[in-house]
Amino acid sequence: MIEIDGAAGEGGGQILRSALALSMCTGQPFAMLRIRAGRARPGLMRQHLACVHAAAAICGAQVQGAELNSQALHFTPGPVRAGEYRFVIASAGSCTLLLQTLWPALMLADGESRLALVGGTHNPAAPPFHFLERSYAPLLRRLGAPCELQLRRLGFYPAGGGEISAVLGPAGDRLQPFDLEERGALVANRAECFAPGLPRSVAQRELDRLGQALGWAGEQLQVAAVRQNEGPGNALLVTLDHEHLSEVFTQFGRKGISAENVAHDLACEVRRYQARQAALGAHLADQWALPLALAVWRSGHGASYTCTELTPHAHSNFAVIAQFLPVRFSTAAAGDGWRVSLAPA
Ligand code: AMP
Repeated sequence: MIEIDGAAGEGGGQILRSALALSMCTGQPFAMLRIRAGRARPGLMRQHLACVHAAAAICGAQVQGAELNSQALHFTPGPVRAGEYRFVIASAGSCTLLLQTLWPALMLADGESRLALVGGTHNPAAPPFHFLERSYAPLLRRLGAPCELQLRRLGFYPAGGGEISAVLGPAGDRLQPFDLEERGALVANRAECFAPGLPRSVAQRELDRLGQALGWAGEQLQVAAVRQNEGPGNALLVTLDHEHLSEVFTQFGRKGISAENVAHDLACEVRRYQARQAALGAHLADQWALPLALAVWRSGHGASYTCTELTPHAHSNFAVIAQFLPVRFSTAAAGDGWRVSLAPA
């Protein structure tokens, strides 16, 4: 039984989600104590419970402590079953975080899976759908794991009701790690504003201000088409397509924050990335560690990547991964960022 301190390092929900994913991938049970102990509302919230229940459903796990506010969880996985699943998360919990919990186990399962996930698709403090589609999924395909994602309906906090569908093909024994040391030349860049249920002028002001700050104009700045009865919500996105990877940066509009400030914050985030050479931005750097570690474990070959920042999320994710998999992480300053190396232990 692997014992995990849920309050270690960053102490957030990611420790739990990574533990669920890795437990299913390796068949090892775990006990987690002090879940999210450092957070203002500690323990399992609805969206964490949704991940525990969905994980249990795809592998027939035995679970103790899966209750609202619980700070202790025991999870004993069974064999992962590829198939067709639909999970609904109440209260706009993040569909993308749920998808990332199930994805590693389903990609190692022995058949194709089709998922329909209902909840939030663009939540603060979670990867927006477009980040998964444009940044994360292409890297997983390159690793050898087929996947197709579709946004069926936008969902924002607090209404939720968005929907994502995912087809995850089995990777079989094709998972091969690769080095991601350089982002390569910039091939395209664009900004989009999703603002369902809000006046179009709000979206336009955000894009105008962003365009001024980044020196962009015309078709690089789009008010994204939305469906009737989506929203209300507001996400401003920048996508940078480089030769070797795409990065998506997002800021959310909310009451009390002007459209100009949303654009200003996003421009600062994009400029921080553009001012550096390393390949992965801060969020991709913590999320890429898990699928890459699985490929290192399965293939027996090491791999590395460079990133602009190493956040507390990244460090705590490395620690959880190393508890489940026989891989060794090492980090070193590299140029104006960091290099993360993984080797079979
Ligand atoms: P936690 O705070 O522990 O629930 O983990 C949140 C996860 O969401 C981490 O993997 C973050 O990197 C990721 N995340 C948060 N904001 C963004 C964003 N704007 N784009 C991509 N990923 C994000």
